[in-house]
Amino acid sequence: MNSSINIRTHYRACNLCEAICGLEIKVNENNEILTINGDKNDPFSRGHICPKAVGLKDIYLDENRLKQPVRRTETGWETISWNEAFDEVASKLKSIQNQHGKNAVGVYQGNPSVHNSGTLLTAPAFLRALGTKNRFSATSADQLPHHFVAWQMFGHPLLLPIPDIDRTDFMLIIGANPLASNGSLMTVPDVAHRLKAIQKRGGKFVVIDPRKTETAKIADQHLFIKPATDVYLLLAILNEVLNTKEFLHYDQLNITPEEVLLLKSAIESYTPQAVSSITGMASETIEILVNELLTAKSSVVYGRMGVSVQAFGGVCQWLINCINIFTGNMDSEGGAMFPQPAFDLLGRAKKGENYFNRYQSAVRKLPEFDGELPVSAMAEDILAGGIKNLITVCGNPVLSTSNGTQLDTALEGLDYMVSVDIYINETTRHANIILPPTTGLEVAHYDIAFHNLAVRNTAKYTQPLFEKDNNQRHDWEIFEEIKNRLITGEGSDIPAPKNPEEKLAMAIQYGPYGKDGLTLQKLKDNPHGEDLGALRPCLKEKLLTDNQEININSELIMQDLERVKINFEKLLKATKSTDFDLQLIGRRHLRSNNSWMHNSERLMKGQNRCTLMIHPETAANRGIVNLEKVQIESRVGRVEIVVEITDEIMPNVVSIPHGFGHARRGVQLDVATAHAGVSLNDLTDELLIDELTGNAAFTGVPVRILRGIK
Ligand code: SF4
Repeated sequence: MNSSINIRTHYRACNLCEAICGLEIKVNENNEILTINGDKNDPFSRGHICPKAVGLKDIYLDENRLKQPVRRTETGWETISWNEAFDEVASKLKSIQNQHGKNAVGVYQGNPSVHNSGTLLTAPAFLRALGTKNRFSATSADQLPHHFVAWQMFGHPLLLPIPDIDRTDFMLIIGANPLASNGSLMTVPDVAHRLKAIQKRGGKFVVIDPRKTETAKIADQHLFIKPATDVYLLLAILNEVLNTKEFLHYDQLNITPEEVLLLKSAIESYTPQAVSSITGMASETIEILVNELLTAKSSVVYGRMGVSVQAFGGVCQWLINCINIFTGNMDSEGGAMFPQPAFDLLGRAKKGENYFNRYQSAVRKLPEFDGELPVSAMAEDILAGGIKNLITVCGNPVLSTSNGTQLDTALEGLDYMVSVDIYINETTRHANIILPPTTGLEVAHYDIAFHNLAVRNTAKYTQPLFEKDNNQRHDWEIFEEIKNRLITGEGSDIPAPKNPEEKLAMAIQYGPYGKDGLTLQKLKDNPHGEDLGALRPCLKEKLLTDNQEININSELIMQDLERVKINFEKLLKATKSTDFDLQLIGRRHLRSNNSWMHNSERLMKGQNRCTLMIHPETAANRGIVNLEKVQIESRVGRVEIVVEITDEIMPNVVSIPHGFGHARRGVQLDVATAHAGVSLNDLTDELLIDELTGNAAFTGVPVRILRGIK
């Protein structure tokens, strides 16, 4: 008898991170997963996967995963029916809004929301039905500066330039570790091979980071930089580029000499010599980098978390775009380019829209962007009483946003809380009701968000591997059910939820490749995915600014240069603080996925990863030895952590990975709590933000080490 006869093969896109790798999953007749491998016929990922892909099986089988709604009672969690849960949630939302106004309900959406086509297609209508201005998401703890700058320069928050990594000859990576993240705001499966391919074709890539990261270790060169000083390095690079007139190629982008002069005069004081002591980088090194950017056949600068989540995240991203423009590498092969996804999110976008500061947060008056307030304001606005009911959607802000302890306290005091989530975790343990959607292998998926950020144009549709049980609900069913109850009067028939697949089919058929015959059915017939080709220059057609030109000298950004200048002068005069004398940075591991995936034993086993990295000199100065447990303290909190002495980090800088801190009361994650670690965000400070965009500043948090724990 042939034992392979009842084995079926399923192809899908992994939606755990931004890389959208193709998976090949073998399942036997008992629906047991036998293997999860990379799909070699996926035109984008070409067989690559990372260790997290196998974690999909662990999530599917996880005994801690919820499949039916649960309600918190005085004696613990009780399982309730979906109808009871939907009725209670809708009635609580209505009653709180009737009593205190629409904004009394807050919403927080976590990262997985954008990795799920069901949520992306149905949550907007649910949010409209809710009508609250108190919306928050992981965006303002992550990539808000990119969106802000894209809007200011190109006219839309989603017009994000992506490095053309497959054709570039020189790539400068600042504050990013794609070998651990698998690419971020750069959807790039198999990034290690793609980076090595630059070297194989005679090019090179350089990494600048306060830590010698996994990516830095395979780079042609790694350069240390003091945390949160990237803005000065970038200013010096741009200044040098603009001074090298013969290499300027800005005319094809309709940038006038007057605009260039204005820009030059705004930044001319930031020479490589002037910024050297502040950044910790030799002026000659900066000049060599500029020469490499200018003389390579094509080059691109890419800056991610380390550059975004700091006090000048917006200005940093603007400078990166300017450097790519003025080295002649914006919207051209090997430079920074704009993908053309099959589901075109910009298809109906209008020119000249305002996305900024149409209202503000209650306490600190932080500005809204694209319908969301900065998440650093969420806890204080709850504590001030303006938000009485919170809905969290696939997010764990207690671990992933600044000053998690403050948020913990705030959630404790809410009148009511609902979480759409599969786990009872550090955040959802505060909920009154948890509504668990299907996940991973049980869902259909088309990556609406990340094809928009991809280094190659492809399209892929994934069918569910396993049918959901009768007692489970998809995310889109949950949003539709609550929305329908919110907009339907008491006693009315509740309309059945509408499957959003119809919207997906329409968007693809009438999208940019529809005329070439691309349909949802065609994608269903080819589960490996369709290759739609390399990125093509297209910025001129895509620009959505008022005058359809690139806005180089955005007024808001130019004004923020004053804040950059004040800080520069302060840093020049600064002597070492005696209070908080170290700078804290985060880090990420390939086996972690922000604050989740920690409940998979196969991903968590091995050496303790939640350590405090510290340079040998910094440790020796304090008499600290390797593996010693120390207390580390910031303005907002204190944690105890084991020390890892390593010369892979700069002196006077310390690093803790994010996503840990599972030892909180009531968390029901068996594996995660066995590897609890401490939360980086019990030290990060909600008052540290990029004042231009409102994004959280996690990089360079002032801390000090206290001794005395054995
Ligand atoms: S890199 Fe990301 S998309 Fe690819 S297998 Fe790993 S988690 Fe999944």
